[in-house]
Amino acid sequence: MKVLQGELPDRVPVIPQVTYTTAQITGVGLIEALHSPKKTAKALLAGQRRLGYDAIYVGWESSFNLLAEAMGCTMRFPEDSVPQVAENIVKSPADVDKIEVPDPNSSGRLPLHMELVYLIKKKVKDEIPLFAYTPGPFTLAGQLAGVNPLMIATIHDSQFVTELTDLALEASIKYALANIEAGIDVIVIADPTASGSLISPTTFGTYAAPQQKVLVNAISQTGAFASLHICGKTMPMLELMAETGTKMLELDHLVDMAEAKKRVGHKVILMGNLNPTELLLMGTPKEIEAAAKGCIETVGQDGRYILSSGCEVPPLAPLENIRAMVLAAEKYGKFS
Ligand SMILES: [Zn+2]
Repeated sequence: MKVLQGELPDRVPVIPQVTYTTAQITGVGLIEALHSPKKTAKALLAGQRRLGYDAIYVGWESSFNLLAEAMGCTMRFPEDSVPQVAENIVKSPADVDKIEVPDPNSSGRLPLHMELVYLIKKKVKDEIPLFAYTPGPFTLAGQLAGVNPLMIATIHDSQFVTELTDLALEASIKYALANIEAGIDVIVIADPTASGSLISPTTFGTYAAPQQKVLVNAISQTGAFASLHICGKTMPMLELMAETGTKMLELDHLVDMAEAKKRVGHKVILMGNLNPTELLLMGTPKEIEAAAKGCIETVGQDGRYILSSGCEVPPLAPLENIRAMVLAAEKYGKFS
């Protein structure tokens, strides 16, 4: 919280993006936890207690899937993974008008998520900062209409994309505000479909950034903090991302942190970016310590940096690897 408030902390904070990886500790099934906020809360709290990181990501599955389902998409529930959209609800531009903005306290499985936030907040009070995801409007639009149709529409049906992303924006704001009301400190705008791995900076600037900006503004006005999380390659749009007014950028492992620091470090707090698969899932604690040390030395010297994974930590990442990240922050990240 000191970093977010512009003060120098005692050391570089370490906040790996850990959610369902904590199922390893309590033994709860990935799908079983989805229907029990109590079991999810137990796992998330146990993860923080056991591994000692500085904040909790309150959630279990992608926020854009949860909202897409509440807005009418059909989901598939695989045994060993979190749910995915099976059938999109928007099949033609005329469908946009038929969809209602979901109520976080009554639509679909959103109330289960809200209960999870209440349970965790009740337990940690103001001792541990809480993060929660809300969908980037472009990504939620892709869930509602399908990513391919959305991409094609960015080329020939500007009005459809705007109407769809406006609807997604409204849903995302309502969800974010409910999360803040329930005690979340940092709203993470997850916008993977707006990645430079998928769209050009021009498309980003036209269809993703304007909605992100409105969302950031709605979050900031409450006194909570906004963090923009875009997976994959984001080097071409770092400035556009920083100009949304977000407090933080969560950068993936494909981003050169030193260059990001140079280009936007004066505007935003940077967070990242250990490789979730090659390092956290398949690497050793020694390799993780070295990579974390490198990040801290490169971008963590002025107190405007949070050590993290580049994206969500995979469900089967060894817990000792996450612990190695935390120990590295304690060993190399001290300011005094
Ligand atoms: Zn990501």
